[in-house]
Amino acid sequence: MVICPNILNVSTRKLKNIFKLNHPYDANNIKIAIESGKVKNAVIVGGGLIGLEVAEALVKSEIKVTIVEMLDRLLPKMLDREMSILLMRNMEANGIDVSVCNKVLGFEGDDQGNLQAVVTEKGTIDAQLALIAVGVKPNTKLAEDAGLEISENGAIKVNEYLQTSNPDIYAGGDCIDNVNLVLNRRVYLPLGDLANIHGRVIANNIAGKREKFPGVLGTSICKVFDFNAGAIGLTEEMARENDYEVVTAVVPGPDKAHFYPTAKGIFIKLVGDKKTGKILGAQIIGPGDVAKRINMLSVGMFHGITAQTLAKMDLAYAPPFAPAMDNLITAANVLQNKIDGIAKSLTAMEVKERLDKKMDFILLDVRSPKEVESISLPYENVVNIPLGVLRDRYHELPMGKEIVIFCKVSLRGYEAQKILEEKGFTNVKFMDGGIISWPFQCIVNN
Ligand SMILES: Cc1cc2nc3c(=O)[nH]c(=O)nc-3n(C[C@H](O)[C@H](O)[C@H](O)COP(=O)(O)OP(=O)(O)OC[C@H]3O[C@@H](n4cnc5c(N)ncnc54)[C@H](O)[C@@H]3O)c2cc1C
Repeated sequence: MVICPNILNVSTRKLKNIFKLNHPYDANNIKIAIESGKVKNAVIVGGGLIGLEVAEALVKSEIKVTIVEMLDRLLPKMLDREMSILLMRNMEANGIDVSVCNKVLGFEGDDQGNLQAVVTEKGTIDAQLALIAVGVKPNTKLAEDAGLEISENGAIKVNEYLQTSNPDIYAGGDCIDNVNLVLNRRVYLPLGDLANIHGRVIANNIAGKREKFPGVLGTSICKVFDFNAGAIGLTEEMARENDYEVVTAVVPGPDKAHFYPTAKGIFIKLVGDKKTGKILGAQIIGPGDVAKRINMLSVGMFHGITAQTLAKMDLAYAPPFAPAMDNLITAANVLQNKIDGIAKSLTAMEVKERLDKKMDFILLDVRSPKEVESISLPYENVVNIPLGVLRDRYHELPMGKEIVIFCKVSLRGYEAQKILEEKGFTNVKFMDGGIISWPFQCIVNN
């Protein structure tokens, strides 16, 4: 039996079938391991972009997959928790076990060096294959040996022309740092699209055309089963850590005209700065078209777009491509209404926190009885008054208590907020994204 305590430095020579996914040889060896027929269970260490993509590939090879992630969510650099849980539910529905807030401690194998199990803080998981996908470190040895300056984040320091501290030496790709255009700070962001643009900028500079590389927005995307997940800029968590006065909006909806046969759902979360109205970041997930909206945001955010401007963008519309008012425009309008103080809401996480603390508030469901019958929230403080009769029945609600309203997507929730405020209620909010975006337990009757 062998235990390798440091997963980053694990010697793959001691135990077979532990791969770090940083070389094309790994892909070949993983294929050989799978084709041997001996791999029934695999553990992926790390719930980032690469870990998730590989998970899907293994499940398609009929291997039972467990993802072990140290932090409290999948794609922690891209998604806030409520968005990440929606993605996690989809992965679990596709047969993947996800263990978050759990750290891998080492590996166990037999005397022949065959991997048998992965040891984690929460127990031991049977595995004949383990993949370590815990992030990327720049290999800067060559640059260091040449005396080039290295940034605090461990990557080679370059200026806007991608020159290193020696102006005759340029650097680009995964080994350099970049300026984050939202934070105006140097960050490490190893992505393939950036490496390609760096290459062109460097080539132009070497050829005598002075050209700058402006910086990055952290635009990223992946596909896991039928779910796409894209992100740009700051998450809500990052924005708060950087002292922004944060406003967020979660808006679910079909990616094409709702009546179009191939329309699929997407969830958009926008993160905005209350002071300037600027979009600081976005997360978009779901089976629908994520990429084009993330890329629209990339162009807008490069120019410092505000929610107000985003809400007026002249976007291409025809039913096979988008709703007449694109989901992004709707999300920008919701964000702007919140910035203006017209719309008042709580995030799903804030509602859950109130429920966990057993706070005294009303969860007002304004959907029709038929909708409530098919899916509902399992909490004692839920009261159902359909929106259509709220003006007649509002007096059933206590004036003094906090009321949090929801419907399917929280459009009716917002209308109900306005109705109750008009009737004199002063502590009324809607739940962002409605029941369709609720990432926790629901009662579902098919
Ligand atoms: C599994 C996986 C999936 C990915 N998917 C995506 C994706 O979907 N989207 C995305 O944007 N990015 C993705 N990436 C990241 C993307 O691959 C990298 O950002 C990109 O390849 C970086 O390009 P590069 O030229 O800097 O480095 P590399 O592509 O790593 O190329 C560097 C090359 O330099 C060689 N080399 C190193 N040292 C020396 C030396 N001293 N002398 C000569 N040669 C040397 C290396 O062998 C290597 O061939 C993925 C990465 C991985 C591992």
